[in-house]
Amino acid sequence: KKIIIAIDGHSSSGKSTMAKDLAREIGYIYIDTGAMYRAVTLYCLRKGYIQGDTIQEEALKADLDQMDISFRYNAETGRPDTYLNGEKVEKEIRSMEVADKVSLIAALGFVRRAMVAKQQEMGKAKGIVMDGRDIGTVVFPDAELKVFVTASPEVRARRRLEELQAKGEQTTYEEVLANVKKRDYIDSTREESPLRQAPDALVLDNSEMTIPEQKKWLRDQFEA
Ligand code: C5P
Repeated sequence: KKIIIAIDGHSSSGKSTMAKDLAREIGYIYIDTGAMYRAVTLYCLRKGYIQGDTIQEEALKADLDQMDISFRYNAETGRPDTYLNGEKVEKEIRSMEVADKVSLIAALGFVRRAMVAKQQEMGKAKGIVMDGRDIGTVVFPDAELKVFVTASPEVRARRRLEELQAKGEQTTYEEVLANVKKRDYIDSTREESPLRQAPDALVLDNSEMTIPEQKKWLRDQFEA
């Protein structure tokens, strides 16, 4: 029987890597809900709807219905790419500029409601690994397997810095650490479905774990 696996946790905790690899191994569909909030943020940045910390909410609200966010499997990478209105934006949504604003967009109640509805629709198929912040608490409170992944901010910043540098982004450890901490703060203090551990989630602190160790841990939970 196919189930829903909810993987929540902090920014750059490595949950996406674990979730993607598990999905591929067990033949499930992987859905990265962070990519959806990032795509909305990219859209807003391009439209000029974000100035500093101020968002033109009415303009965004008017556009949200027509915004098409989807995923398409990329045979080359073995992973899904994110599309915004038919355009592949997988690379663009991972920039520091988007990371810097995404928590503001994700704090908007009307944005969350629209994304949660899309996610619940995608999950109807079952056989889903969904990765985010509120999957086990809000999107699929009845998910059969819930995992909450975390690591210290310093470990997460170091991992994120490596990823960004590998992609040629010019940034520093201090800048990335500040971004990780800022997102943790906004994500856990927002009014609309703040980042919380579901009471029935299995908690994984992977600060001291290698990627293969994390993958094995997750696979073991799935088999159990
Ligand atoms: O997972 P990722 O770091 O790509 O998510 C980017 C941002 O999107 C998070 O910092 C958070 O603000 C928001 N997010 C959310 N709810 C989700 C997934 C992501 O609020 N389910």
